[in-house]
Amino acid sequence: MANRMKEDEKNEKIIRGLLKLPANRRCINCNNLGPQYVCTNFWTFICTNCSGMHREFTHRVKSISMAKFTSQEVIALQEGGNERAKLIYFKDWDPQRHSFPDSSNIDRIREFIKHVYVDRRYTGERGTDRPPRVKSDREDSNENRMADSYHGSSRSPPYEDRYDRRYNERLSSGGRNDETNFRYQVMKIKVLYMLMVTTREVLATLKW
Ligand SMILES: [Zn+2]
Repeated sequence: MANRMKEDEKNEKIIRGLLKLPANRRCINCNNLGPQYVCTNFWTFICTNCSGMHREFTHRVKSISMAKFTSQEVIALQEGGNERAKLIYFKDWDPQRHSFPDSSNIDRIREFIKHVYVDRRYTGERGTDRPPRVKSDREDSNENRMADSYHGSSRSPPYEDRYDRRYNERLSSGGRNDETNFRYQVMKIKVLYMLMVTTREVLATLKW
């Protein structure tokens, strides 16, 4: 018990120290002074308003003053924090074109969090920030599939794609196609013959 308290105390001290780092002094999203929460999805220091918005997106947030932090969480915060998160989530951020939301504008914060952490628009991983263009339905569905597999979804489009391709390849390869056709014709003849025999037998049992 005493050990536990000692550890809690130590962790609190480290977090208080982290809060003094320039990048952690302000909310990473809205620049509000003195963050009171931590988002443990991204290991960022955020303000109360932003913590509420992160919750809306089912991101986990912890109050710095109310919650206890485990040693692992403290290590993650030491390795993370706002400076590190900026390198990841704001890599492609262009201050000329983009602006941070005001802490009082909840709708803007919501939109901002979606763009930055959910869509990962500025991580430089994908070209999602390209200008809009007219897309056909087919293209659109392909893009959605890619997005799904990118997010590690458990749905199975990639497998279906593979299956489709294999199936199409088989259909388009001439030799295999002829062979399949031949077998199909033979089967058809067999079935017709059986039908004929059965019909004859049935007819024979009838008294004309
Ligand atoms: Zn904020």
